[in-house]
Amino acid sequence: MSKWWIENGTFVTMDEAQPVVRGHMVVDGDRIVYIGEERPQEADEISVRIDGSRRVYMPGLINTHGHAAMSLLRGFSDDEALQTWLQDYMWPMEAKFTDADVKWGTSLAVLEMLKSGTTTFVDMYDRMDQVAQVVERSGMRGVLMRGAIGLCPEEVQREKLAEAVQFAKDWNGAADGRIATMMSPHAPYTCPPAFIEAFVQAAHDLDLPMHTHMSETRAEVEQNMREYGLRPVAHLDRLGLFSRPSFVAHAVHLTDEEIALLAERGVAVSHNPASNLKLASGVARVPELLKAGVAVSLGTDSAASNNNLDLFDEIRLAALVHKGVSGDPTVVPAMQALQLATLGGAATIRQPELGALKAGLKADFISLDADQPHFYPRTDIVSHLVYSASGRDVRDVWVDGRQVVQGGVCLLLDEEKILAEAEACYRRLAGA
Ligand SMILES: [Zn+2]
Repeated sequence: MSKWWIENGTFVTMDEAQPVVRGHMVVDGDRIVYIGEERPQEADEISVRIDGSRRVYMPGLINTHGHAAMSLLRGFSDDEALQTWLQDYMWPMEAKFTDADVKWGTSLAVLEMLKSGTTTFVDMYDRMDQVAQVVERSGMRGVLMRGAIGLCPEEVQREKLAEAVQFAKDWNGAADGRIATMMSPHAPYTCPPAFIEAFVQAAHDLDLPMHTHMSETRAEVEQNMREYGLRPVAHLDRLGLFSRPSFVAHAVHLTDEEIALLAERGVAVSHNPASNLKLASGVARVPELLKAGVAVSLGTDSAASNNNLDLFDEIRLAALVHKGVSGDPTVVPAMQALQLATLGGAATIRQPELGALKAGLKADFISLDADQPHFYPRTDIVSHLVYSASGRDVRDVWVDGRQVVQGGVCLLLDEEKILAEAEACYRRLAGA
């Protein structure tokens, strides 16, 4: 049975021509082959049917920035400034991470993401072979990269670069194409210019896109000015990073000129509103970025600075926070907020086969239980998804045409074991 049919569902397609379809969708293998109001023509030949009448279907969400294994540090240090939080809390704990910690921390994150409707995630971390193995097993889609901090002797820098290159080569296109790799120097403030240039060269050689943190805090921008005489956008541009297809996380502190340059270079932005608010980094200029034509998507960042990986939270925040900051309630309307987590995500990671429900695209999609009080009355389903829903409403998840969550339960992962192992990892890290 490679071909199957969801009948009588409500489908939020993200397709501009018809954003909401009440009707039917047919999946064949890893693809959507039909979506429309009419019964599919080959209806009689399709034996497997799912009753969609109590569900809302939409594209799987795309989380474009995070560090999955850091889920082990959820709640470990809250309410601190970014530099203190990183240097005094996160880095000392992360220095103790073993392969097993990365494996179980990532498993915990993948479990949480899948169950709350995320089908693709970007992960920048180390011990990435562990991360890739979890992705392979879970059925999820991942854009993975060895994120490298260059505040170390040159010899160690060379080892990190070699590791990043080897990982990118080994795993690009793996897991039936569900894994893509990129090259990722951690940030301009944690990487000397020559180290960033070496990553750019490697990305050219491997023909891979690039991702980095940029302009997250005002202090970081000021430090960049002091050390290099340039703001981060001009600095990274000069180092050649934007000569690759690339995207940056945060981009909170931008001038008009920087926004124009990002648009000109085709650099996409992963907007992480919850993490930026929690660390008091500021609020990214998303309405201006969108107006300039920059592709914008949503990221949770790690569970240590969010503190959950429910992308519906990010959608709602993106729709709310820019209204509050600008004083203009018309900015980032509901449909645009939903686009950030779907089509915007696909554009950011440069996978145009994702992010919408449309014949020919990949069958990465989710269902939500719409038979609950907060989905009534049936005024506007897009509004409900943005302003009223949460990841806890997700019931079913398909990635690449394969069901990975059914009735809220992960089919390919041992949920109980993951929770127990993650707890044990944290106990050991905190006690050691
Ligand atoms: Zn990050």
